[in-house]
Amino acid sequence: MLLKNIRIIFQSFFLIFCIYIGYKFYHYYQWATGKSDFYVPKPPSVEAFLPIGSLVSLKKLALTGAYDSVHPAGLSLFIAFILLCFLMRKAFCGWICPVGAVSNFVQKIGSKLGILKELPKWAHYPLMSIKYLLLGFFLYMILISMNLYAMEAFIQSPYNMTVDGRMLKFFLKPSAITICVLIFLIAISFFIRNFWCRYLCPYGAFLGLIALASLLSIRRDETKCINCKKCEKICPASLKIYEKDKINSPECQGCFDCIKVCPAKDCLSMSCVNKIDIKSIRVFAGMVLIFIISAWLIAVFAGKWESPIKPEVFRTYYMMLEDKDLR
Ligand code: SF4
Ligand code: SF4
Ligand code: SF4
Repeated sequence: MLLKNIRIIFQSFFLIFCIYIGYKFYHYYQWATGKSDFYVPKPPSVEAFLPIGSLVSLKKLALTGAYDSVHPAGLSLFIAFILLCFLMRKAFCGWICPVGAVSNFVQKIGSKLGILKELPKWAHYPLMSIKYLLLGFFLYMILISMNLYAMEAFIQSPYNMTVDGRMLKFFLKPSAITICVLIFLIAISFFIRNFWCRYLCPYGAFLGLIALASLLSIRRDETKCINCKKCEKICPASLKIYEKDKINSPECQGCFDCIKVCPAKDCLSMSCVNKIDIKSIRVFAGMVLIFIISAWLIAVFAGKWESPIKPEVFRTYYMMLEDKDLR
């Protein structure tokens, strides 16, 4: 029973873990901004929430071979999530991302209440273009417009030094508009499946494009399919799995829900290019877990996890942030 819900266990674990690191980061922030004398080390994993800065750092790494010294854990996790998508589709979205987890939970409540609806095509496709337009903007600004000088200036800027603190401040003291937007996004997710993830998140769009080259994909054995369409009803991306032999959509999160719900034995499987089938969600979950732990250990032992910059230096910038000097 427990293993049947293994994805929910993963999602809940990472959600609770994110709340825990948020709590630790809050205490670090209190010290860094001079509100407390009690030093709490910054949890480096908080940098997972800085994908834009990590993309800048990745470009710099590719051009110069120099690793990000300000938010090294952010870059390490960014690279790990890209590799994870290359290996196991958008498993980051389906198994790890706390926002995706909340979105999935809300969607499930909407489904149980019978209020979950599918948007008509005329609304679905224009809405879906929003996240790709946002992604295109960021890719253009970072990969095309930014030269080495601009990248270095950004990475060493006071803004980047305190960007995680700014993010915390954004959620600790949300404006009325922020609160309204958050309420709207949660409320609409009861009615429209995974609204934020499917239509608005540029990070998910980026990972989805990487996942197009993924080694694994859902495959359907047409001869065994009874066309019940249960797979589409449960799919968080509402993919029409029953229409294809291979699902290579940028929306597929590798969640295994379609395989779990399919009543036809051996009809659906997660398969590799050379036809190695992964039929068990436990095996897939184990692969995700081993990958994440390995990525973390490699980053720690390679010295790409903790910033070499002294906490006191960060504190100087944070104090300036608190004094509103950096705004
Ligand atoms: S689409 Fe964005 S918010 Fe949703 S699970 Fe993926 S990364 Fe997270
Ligand atoms: S759930 Fe399985 S049997 Fe039903 S339509 Fe989908 S692939 Fe075919
Ligand atoms: S239900 Fe199947 S096709 Fe849909 S996202 Fe999950 S694994 Fe991919």
